[in-house]
Amino acid sequence: MSSTRSLIDRRAALCGSAALALGALACRSGGARGRFDVLLRGANVLDGSGAPPFVADVALGAERIAAIGPLGDVQAARVLDARGLCLAPGFVDIHTHSDRTIFEWPGAESRVLQGCTSEITGNCGGSAAPHIADDEDAGAGSRWSDVRSYIAAWRQQGAALNHALLVGHGTLRRAVMGSVDRPATADELARMNVLLEDALDQGALGLSTGLEYVPGMFTPPEEIVQLARAVARRGKLYASHMRSEEEALLEAVDEALEVGRRTGVRVQVSHLKAAGRAHWKLLDGALAKLERARAEGVDVMADAYPYTAYSTTLTMLLEPWSREGGADAVLARLRDPATRAKILREVGPHVEREPGGWELVVIASLDKREHQECVGKNLLEIAELWSVEPAEAFARLLEGSNSSVSFVGHGMQESDVERVLAHPLVMVGSDGRSMAPTGSALNDRPHPRSYGTFPRVLGRYCRERKLFDLATAVRKMTALPAERARLAGRGRIEVGAFADLVLFDAQTIGDTATFAQPQQFPTGIAAVFVNGDLAAERGAPTAARAGRFLEA
Ligand SMILES: [Zn+2]
Repeated sequence: MSSTRSLIDRRAALCGSAALALGALACRSGGARGRFDVLLRGANVLDGSGAPPFVADVALGAERIAAIGPLGDVQAARVLDARGLCLAPGFVDIHTHSDRTIFEWPGAESRVLQGCTSEITGNCGGSAAPHIADDEDAGAGSRWSDVRSYIAAWRQQGAALNHALLVGHGTLRRAVMGSVDRPATADELARMNVLLEDALDQGALGLSTGLEYVPGMFTPPEEIVQLARAVARRGKLYASHMRSEEEALLEAVDEALEVGRRTGVRVQVSHLKAAGRAHWKLLDGALAKLERARAEGVDVMADAYPYTAYSTTLTMLLEPWSREGGADAVLARLRDPATRAKILREVGPHVEREPGGWELVVIASLDKREHQECVGKNLLEIAELWSVEPAEAFARLLEGSNSSVSFVGHGMQESDVERVLAHPLVMVGSDGRSMAPTGSALNDRPHPRSYGTFPRVLGRYCRERKLFDLATAVRKMTALPAERARLAGRGRIEVGAFADLVLFDAQTIGDTATFAQPQQFPTGIAAVFVNGDLAAERGAPTAARAGRFLEA
């Protein structure tokens, strides 16, 4: 925490106060306070709707967009010359994992500096609340027994951008019945339903599942359908990290669609992809299924991030039997010679299938801080370093870090990334998190998506690869996700909307975060506003904490 603070202080000292930072762009009024708080002069406005850009002045006041148009000689406390720059709604990230990290990095530099002004957390079946008593795998730090207390803590701390929270199905199931591999009893299902309804009524945006993780993977489809009914009744969102993104991708898409068909719930397929060379051929079939279901009336859409690698926990490479019970149970199986041998025999073939080889598995972080020399190395390199087989290195990594190791898996192909991003049912979602290259992340090599997703779509995929025009790109990262998540007053530039805005240069915007050096900030972003306050200017964050928790 203190190092985050000092980073901000250092940057604040470099660029002066927020007002001075604005002055660096062009502060032309000063003196008597004008009619508006901020006036952006002559911007190319991309309003989020997908319509072509138009040149206008945009005035901000009382946290909202107050006026749009040729505004003549109106006065404002601050005036920015936005001529030649694009003004878009702040980017809305529909898929993130920041519900805990925002407490270590409330400045959310990884997000704000790429123009992201709202993010939806609690994805892939895991949310920071509700956590009951000593349920396992709740993670380090504070535990919130319900969504209400989580939101109160969030508001007390404050953050540089807006948050909304999905409640994780895995979190609910673990709280009620632990990480066992069996269907829930009627009583357990009823208790999960109570926790879910409470969470939804206390402000959660919807329900997320992580059906490739413990304990989501042990959940029969029927249980998900039963829980989704409460989500559907409230018109909230069901976001699913599906049961497979590999060999059973098509069956997994069918399962997600069936939840929508049977309950009427709005379905969001999370981080759509086909992972592993052998499974790339399945992607077209998955997209076709979404199109067909949509045509039949299922309200389904999807999100994706603009990279050919994913990132997840190393235990994902274990077979299901060895994952039951969670982290401690995995470690116990590795201590037993017979089960250890079985695990080591199975993991090689798994890695061959997906992602496609040990060299494609690159260590991103190790929770216990042992083996830090392995961060950024692939499993072949680590095996060589330790003079052991890759499977043995895999086991030692888990043992050295309480089985809590994350890796980047280079499992997708570029043409699939482009096909997914360009698809009309797909919006941009990073699967990243609010963080900064400080504190507990100092030595990590996280997936670059946390830092680069939105500028990468605008620079690489829109400007260079011409997958879509600028207005379409902006819509996929603003109005589309805001409507999907039902974030009222967000994702559009229109009078009365919240003044979440990003001002950027369409010719220079781009990501600089790479797999080798992921914790680097993008280029080409002139200013970012959150609820009317300046959150970043020319690559430097301000000290503003104008974000709001958005209850649904
Ligand atoms: Zn996921």
